[in-house]
Amino acid sequence: MFVRTSGCNLRCTWCDTPYTSWNPEGAEMTVDDIVRRVRSYSCTHVVVTGGEPMIAPGMVDLTRALDELGLHVTVETAGTVYQPIACHLMSISPKLANSTPKEREGGRWAAQHDRLRYQPEVLRRLMAEYDHQFKFVVTHPADLGEIETLLTQTGAARNRVVLMAEGTSTDTIRLRAAWIADVCKREGFRYSPRLHIDLWGNERGR
Ligand code: SF4
Repeated sequence: MFVRTSGCNLRCTWCDTPYTSWNPEGAEMTVDDIVRRVRSYSCTHVVVTGGEPMIAPGMVDLTRALDELGLHVTVETAGTVYQPIACHLMSISPKLANSTPKEREGGRWAAQHDRLRYQPEVLRRLMAEYDHQFKFVVTHPADLGEIETLLTQTGAARNRVVLMAEGTSTDTIRLRAAWIADVCKREGFRYSPRLHIDLWGNERGR
């Protein structure tokens, strides 16, 4: 089950959930409302995602309540903000330079985005305190140098790295998948498909 918070401190140019970042929307819910909703399903795994869930008020209380229900909690974050949440898998997706919105909305978010998107101290703390993985959204082979720099600076393990093609169409993903899969085999990374795109396309609400 996905719990998706609305609101993000970044503005990735290719964000595939703009309704949580560029144009945030959604209903106001209390932590109790969310927990009640989660309990109404039989799922044992909950993914708390966004937007950026680590900036959402009540995240500590929410994740602790989900943990107390005995659920497996994964949190998807860009790794720019720390909170002492309860989490069984911290899925950290640091944003590379390919995400900077140089043109979108006249580029007015680009400087803030670049200032916030890479926070090595936060990454090191998350790595130290949580079971974790690093998921990188890649668009071009030139992204690999930036990933290597991040791994060196943070001490992240290569076998915790997952590469995923940027794209919301099966054609784009398939084109990128070919060389990304080769990189994964060569460098000891893992490859992530985009299953929801394969199954339903870039359609919201499925
Ligand atoms: S961090 Fe995630 S939610 Fe925020 S703008 Fe980037 S892709 Fe969108």
